[in-house]
Amino acid sequence: MKILVQGAGLAGCAVASALAQRGHSVTVIERQKELFTSGAGILLYSNALVALDRLGVLSHVLERGFPMQGRTEFLDQNSSHVGYVNYTPIVEGYPAYVGIARNVLLKTLHDSATSHGASFFFGTDLSHMFLDSETALCAVEEMTETYDLVVSAEGVNSRLRQTLLGVASKFSGFGLWHSLHDRPSHVVEKITASAPGVRLGVIPISDQKMYVWASREEPENPWIQRSLWHEQMRSRFSAFGGWIGDLVASIDEKTYIHYTAVNEVHMSTPWNYGQLVFIGDAAHATTPFMAQGGAQALTDAVCLADTIHGVDGKELSVALEAFATKRFPITNLVQNKSFAIGKSYNNPEVNIERTQIELDSFYSTVQQSLA
Ligand SMILES: Cc1cc2nc3c(=O)[nH]c(=O)nc-3n(C[C@H](O)[C@H](O)[C@H](O)COP(=O)(O)OP(=O)(O)OC[C@H]3O[C@@H](n4cnc5c(N)ncnc54)[C@H](O)[C@@H]3O)c2cc1C
Repeated sequence: MKILVQGAGLAGCAVASALAQRGHSVTVIERQKELFTSGAGILLYSNALVALDRLGVLSHVLERGFPMQGRTEFLDQNSSHVGYVNYTPIVEGYPAYVGIARNVLLKTLHDSATSHGASFFFGTDLSHMFLDSETALCAVEEMTETYDLVVSAEGVNSRLRQTLLGVASKFSGFGLWHSLHDRPSHVVEKITASAPGVRLGVIPISDQKMYVWASREEPENPWIQRSLWHEQMRSRFSAFGGWIGDLVASIDEKTYIHYTAVNEVHMSTPWNYGQLVFIGDAAHATTPFMAQGGAQALTDAVCLADTIHGVDGKELSVALEAFATKRFPITNLVQNKSFAIGKSYNNPEVNIERTQIELDSFYSTVQQSLA
């Protein structure tokens, strides 16, 4: 098939690789002038690792990231130990999760896609599109081409989704901060600390570096000027004491920092409009409290390539509907659970036993969904 992928984020690069590996002719258009992602790092749970393995890039990710055995430590407001929660890998022999720099992961997926023959065009957007029952005629800059399938991976604020399916993204009520730091030698696992109304996590991404994520509710969705980000992150998370408090206090103008007002996309199935299908954040952007958005985007990519394999033009719409029907239960579960976790930050007491039970139950469901 001749396939156009819109967006070179995690979902777009991953699906380009998966489809090119199946012998499809794949063109990717990306609005930004170059491959780029904001945010310091990303945590990849073992379902993301399953998808990366299917794409043939797991060993690269393990080499370039920071694999961990899954013993997350919980700390209180003063950085004192509360307990451990254990993540069991979905596949024996895998680490439980891996922290990695976002740009390193994106480049790995992009390089995989190009090595299998996908073509990328940066600084490029769709100008027109005409969809009939079996093809999509797309105008990209001055070129007009007919495609058998368009995969829209243009992220949470997808314009096409709003235009074709009438689904807009909505502010979740949460703000999320990322900052990048040198990794002290004692940080070798994921660490989470709680104070009233706020939660903060520390995640190693390489031998040298780790990132901090920190979140709290922002009901007014304030516009925070970039020049104030460092000061605002320090003051919002100043409730922490001990070494976490020192880490927050150490944030200065030289620290890489990023703020996101977190939006969600709640869309029922189908996720396609004729020969055009939405994947990744464009289909189901979630709050980040389960660190599952990227994992779900990667799983979409592999699942879509599997579902349309060997399908001809007339059956494609049916296959695209089957793809969304397969993916919806888990992406919907992630959205609901993640939002509930975000809300639970109002209570700084972490019940370790209950957290472990919920975690085991969630990953058992994820494992079944991959079968
Ligand atoms: C703060 C934060 C922390 C997170 N942490 C984690 C984590 O630890 N683990 C995890 O698994 N997930 C995490 N996530 C979620 C994860 O980052 C996203 O789910 C994932 O990046 C979605 O990938 P995507 O390709 O669908 O969208 P995006 O990464 O947004 O990519 C969309 C791409 O499309 C391009 N584009 C947009 N419009 C057009 C257009 N018209 N034409 C062409 N190109 C276009 C954009 O420029 C962009 O490159 C986090 C999310 C946030 C916000």
